[in-house]
This record gives sequence, structure tokens and C-alpha cells, in this order.
Amino acid sequence: MSLQSCKKGPYHESNDSHDRQLKALHSMLEIPRIYDATDSNQIRDIDIIKTVNFNLRKPNLVVIHHTAQDSCKQTYKTFTDEKYQVSSHYVICKDGTITQMLSDYLRGWHAGRGSWGNITDVNSSSVGIELDNNGNEEFAEAQITSLLSLLGQLKADYKIEASNFIGHADMAPDRKVDPSQYFPWQRLAEHGYGIWYNIEDLEDVPDYFNTKLGLHTLGYSTADLSSAIRAWEIHYSDEETDQQMSEVELRKLYSLYKLKLGK
Ligand SMILES: [Zn+2]
Repeated sequence: MSLQSCKKGPYHESNDSHDRQLKALHSMLEIPRIYDATDSNQIRDIDIIKTVNFNLRKPNLVVIHHTAQDSCKQTYKTFTDEKYQVSSHYVICKDGTITQMLSDYLRGWHAGRGSWGNITDVNSSSVGIELDNNGNEEFAEAQITSLLSLLGQLKADYKIEASNFIGHADMAPDRKVDPSQYFPWQRLAEHGYGIWYNIEDLEDVPDYFNTKLGLHTLGYSTADLSSAIRAWEIHYSDEETDQQMSEVELRKLYSLYKLKLGK
């Protein structure tokens, strides 16, 4: 048991509120569903025969963030205050402490508007992980070590494919830039969380290939192409994030495109 579960702890009110909300959600899982008698458009004639073969839906995407705040304490405060309407499943502090704030099976409010491939409601499909980092600093080693072990657990529990470990900027390129360019994506990919190109083996790009095709295939929304390029550069490039694909960047993108397609 952690300090946070102590009745007299600083979070006892939000802990109690969390538990009350869980109870309310439980009634939504019952069938027959409780109908709103005032809504004349509702279907009423549904027969009920209960199957015995089911379990909970599970996440198939992990979205990594930096908090852009100055301490874990500040983040806990934000995520336990209803007025902010934001949360994530996990928060990882600089010293490597992992705090879980929501069950992986429940929908956190960390992703907001955006998409990844065909997934258009990212909160419904993902686990959100916030790293305590102000956005202008290196990520602490203990923090990354903890992150790697948490990702290992999530990957094993939910069979999440490597290319579905992404950053907030990847799924919301027109709005977000986290996690920052300091984030060690290559190291994560070496452990199977995310994909990476082989810098020693970048091929010439064929005529049919272009930036939009590459980004779209990876999962990026290309509705705003220059924002998508910036998000890709934050994630994959060591060059300036100038929203222009250089020759080398295009080769890297082509290499990722082939990896994604399993070519
Ligand atoms: Zn974020």
C-alpha cells in the first residue's frame, strides 16, 4: 500500500471520488441497459440472453508524454482536480517512481483530438504515460529505466505491436510537441517499443515513394503535412525540426515505411 491510499493522505478525497465513479461505471456494464424514459428514440424491444464468453476490452496503443510541468506533485494535483479534465494511466518521476492513477482498462483523458492510423479515438484505445519533464531538459536515466520496465509489462499483457508505441505529437501533430527531441526513441525501439531505421543501411528512395505516403503508412495524419513532418522530425530526426524533409530524412522515412509494411 502506498501513502496515497492512506485515508488521511493528501489525495483521500480524490481517491474516494475515483472509487465512487468506478461504482457508477459498473452499472453501465449491466444488461439490460438502463433506458432513459424521456428519450422516445431509444430502442426498447431488445431480448436479453447473456453470453458467458467475454472479458474486458484492452488497450492496443501506448502514448508517451512529457508533463511540461515542474514536478510530479504538480502533475498529481492536476490529475486529481476535476476542473482540468485531464489524466493519464501512469506518471513516472525523475527518480524512477511509477505512480498508477487509472486502470489500464479504463479510458484516460490524455490524448485529446487526433489519430493514429485508423484509430480516431485514441483515448479509447490507449494507455497514457506521462514523464515528469519540463520539455527543455534531458530525461533522467532512472526515469527511462522505469519506463522500459513498464512498457515491457504493457507489451506482454496486451500484445501491443512495436509500431504502436508512440508520442503525443505523433497522434496530434498540429497541436503537440511531446515528448521532446530529448526523448530516447531509438533506445526504446532497440527494446521493441517503437520502430527505428538502420542508419548504416539507408537505401535510395524509389520514384513512387514520397513524404505523404511514408508518413500516412506509419500512422500520421497528413491533413496538415508540415505539422506531420515536424512531429516525425521530433521523433526520428537529429536534424533541425524545420518541417522540410531533407534527402537523408526521406531515406530514413522510406526505411521506416518498409519496416512498417514488413518488407
Ligand atoms: Zn501530451
